[in-house]
Amino acid sequence: AQVAKPKRGKGEAQVAGMRISSPDRLVFEDPPVSKREVAEHYAALAERILPFLKDRPVSLLRCPDGVAGECFFQKHRTQGMPEPVGTVSVETKDGPEDFISLSGAAGLIGCAQMGAIEFHIWGAKNRTLDRPDRLVFDLDPDEALDFAAVKAGALEVRRRLDALGLVSAPMLSGGKGIHVIAPLKPKAEWETVKLFSRALATLMAEAEPERYVATMSKAERKGRIFIDWLRNERGSTAVAPYSLRARPGAKVATPVSWDELEGITTAGAFNIASIRDRLALPCPLREASARAVTLGAQVLKRLEKQVQE
Ligand code: ATP
Ligand code: MN
Ligand code: MN
Repeated sequence: AQVAKPKRGKGEAQVAGMRISSPDRLVFEDPPVSKREVAEHYAALAERILPFLKDRPVSLLRCPDGVAGECFFQKHRTQGMPEPVGTVSVETKDGPEDFISLSGAAGLIGCAQMGAIEFHIWGAKNRTLDRPDRLVFDLDPDEALDFAAVKAGALEVRRRLDALGLVSAPMLSGGKGIHVIAPLKPKAEWETVKLFSRALATLMAEAEPERYVATMSKAERKGRIFIDWLRNERGSTAVAPYSLRARPGAKVATPVSWDELEGITTAGAFNIASIRDRLALPCPLREASARAVTLGAQVLKRLEKQVQE
């Protein structure tokens, strides 16, 4: 816990009414991005990011010495955090714990003040923590694969979800891969969602074992894409849409439409600067979310049939 009094004076700035200390400190080197600019990113994109981020447990990736320095994940709210950084009580195997949860733009900017660069979200909202409202298939390609292979993998996940009646949208991770996200109505429980996503990933790996694997082992990933379905477990997170990535280039995790994906050549297609142009367009993931599906008996029966074949 921090006990020192907040420093006042010219070494601070205001972003959307929130205090930002050391605003000119460089967080990214190339392109140069200051701590103030990170806060401004989240202020400018708050309306975009909050529909996906607010009122659910959030983990922060904090990089107090910039992204070239040491970064660490934090999921618990601790004393000394800016006041708008809220909390939700989550039942864990060690009893209830206070996880970070944000309800508005001030909380987002408050996290940026603490050196948060990335935001990672649970697959369920606070009011329905045991009923996930999204499925994520995180495509993790082996280093040797090109982006065309990752796109093909994402399209294959989409095709399989489509066949089961689920709507999905792709998100460029800002790193190496694509996340295929299927919004759900918060009806089914974690166990069902996890079994569903494991079965889909496994079927895909069994159909094209030269291309895909559904197990985490690094050795099996050689030349293949790991269909990481493990994001769909209680307590797992995935990077939030419109989060910056704490990697060279100040890239942004960016939802795109399936049509757009065709012309995209890298998972790092958008960065802190170019993302601003997209604010004039509707968010493709938001649109998909409006068509969320219930993972019910019908869907599960269809998948079960495929497993038995
Ligand atoms: P890439 O496209 O480069 O794989 P990614 O965000 O998908 O980028 P992964 O390593 O595949 O990166 O991780 C997937 C998700 O798992 C992350 O977005 C993050 O939410 C979560 N995650 C991974 N490692 C950790 C960790 N050490 N602590 C907490 N969450 C983590
Ligand atoms: Mn990944
Ligand atoms: Mn992964």
